[in-house]
Amino acid sequence: MAAKGDMFYAWTTNKDLADKAECGGAVTGLMKFALENKIVDAVLAVKKGKDLYDAVPTIITDPKEIGTTAGSLHCGTLLMSKLVKKYFNGANDMKLGITIKGCDMMGLYELAKRKQVNLDNLVMIGVNCGGSVSPVMARKMITEKYGVDPDKVHKEEIDKGQFIIEYEGGHKGISVDELEEHGFGRRTNCRRCKLKVTRQADLACGNWGVIGDKAGKATFVEICSDKGADLFNKAVAAGALKAEKPPEPAIAIRSKVEKAMFKLADKWREKDFKGLGQGNERLKKIMEDTSRCIKCYQCIEQCPICYCVECSTKKPYLVPPGVLPVPFMFHMIRFVHISDSCVNCGQCEEACPMEIRNSLYMHAIQQDLEKMFGHVPGVDMSLPVLALVEEPTERGRLASTGTDQIYDIFKS
Ligand code: FAD
Ligand code: SF4
Ligand code: SF4
Ligand code: SF4
Ligand code: SF4
Repeated sequence: MAAKGDMFYAWTTNKDLADKAECGGAVTGLMKFALENKIVDAVLAVKKGKDLYDAVPTIITDPKEIGTTAGSLHCGTLLMSKLVKKYFNGANDMKLGITIKGCDMMGLYELAKRKQVNLDNLVMIGVNCGGSVSPVMARKMITEKYGVDPDKVHKEEIDKGQFIIEYEGGHKGISVDELEEHGFGRRTNCRRCKLKVTRQADLACGNWGVIGDKAGKATFVEICSDKGADLFNKAVAAGALKAEKPPEPAIAIRSKVEKAMFKLADKWREKDFKGLGQGNERLKKIMEDTSRCIKCYQCIEQCPICYCVECSTKKPYLVPPGVLPVPFMFHMIRFVHISDSCVNCGQCEEACPMEIRNSLYMHAIQQDLEKMFGHVPGVDMSLPVLALVEEPTERGRLASTGTDQIYDIFKS
């Protein structure tokens, strides 16, 4: 019997799913089992749309259709968390199985602590994530670095540090490090991301640490909650899933890769944040870059933390309408409201038609706030810094001390 904290190699016993899946199909097999046995009412996962650069979120209620969601789309830069709030009433009226990467999971926690998503009704199957490539970048990179027509590519994967493509006439892999040195590769927020194994989901699944004859044929599953253990045990008992204990070196290898990814992310953080400078220099850079904003609201629309019915950026006394360049107050409002909770999902940058580096700025400020207050967003239900501040108390303190610095109130 599996329990929270246990680790397994696992794979589906359904041959059709195994053939379509990325690494043995444990994830799809578990989702199918959960649907068939009414553990969930529906599954929210990702399927291939027009081509492999087109990752489409999809809702499945018929277990026979689950095969359409098998496989990993690394050129799919979706965020699943806000979909739960927007289209499924925060999973308040239904049980939902959902496949999530680290950023999806962090977004769900941020929404849950704001009572916008009901985690009790979610079965979260996490996938490890080394990063994703934007579809536009992927096409450009495949054309320019691989010398291949992106429309001829029928499969892509990231394996042993290489981005590998299979196309009509062959296959080719180039190391991600080399690609990124030349300005290609993963999204910049992904390079800085340190949520590699989704341990705050119910199950964390990935291929790191799968070695020997099971490589590519099984998924390394870490059981992260009692809910996850229950689903896993039931699926194994019913014969839907096969599982075995991973060999000892596998656990060490997995941990080594995760640590190497942390180191790489630290390197990118240092580089990206250093480039922004500090204080006024940073502010000037942000003001200059955001002066190109056309106020399309996409950064707000996509951000998992922006869900307000009446957004302050739309209040004319704060941001006068019809003024260009858009007053900096528009961006200030977002920095003030979001920066303590930003999960660096990259959506605000990915969706920006003016290619403003929104995610970098928000992540940089979030990191400064994390150092000051110790609040780590997206990993548990602890409240963000601003939720702990009461306006009347702060006003009183400002009047009596003449400072608007709130740091001292967090000293014990
Ligand atoms: P399958 O049964 O094939 O199921 C895959 C599930 O992932 C399906 O539910 C599918 O809908 C969902 N999915 C596919 N694409 C996306 C997407 N873009 N966003 C959200 N969900 C998606 N594992 C590692 O060990 N190291 C890594 O570096 C790593 N990077 C990954 C990067 C991405 C973008 C993704 C999506 C996955 C990554 N994984 C990584 C996980 C790995 O590729 C497999 O998903 C995992 O091992 C499970 O294999 P499986 O055969 O059980 O999954
Ligand atoms: Fe993966 Fe992190 Fe990028 Fe999300 S932000 S796609 S979890 S690397
Ligand atoms: Fe994601 Fe941007 Fe919102 Fe941060 S501010 S959580 S990077 S959309
Ligand atoms: Fe809410 Fe502020 Fe985001 Fe607007 S910018 S949706 S007010 S958090
Ligand atoms: Fe401005 Fe870009 Fe946000 Fe649109 S997505 S409102 S252009 S910063």
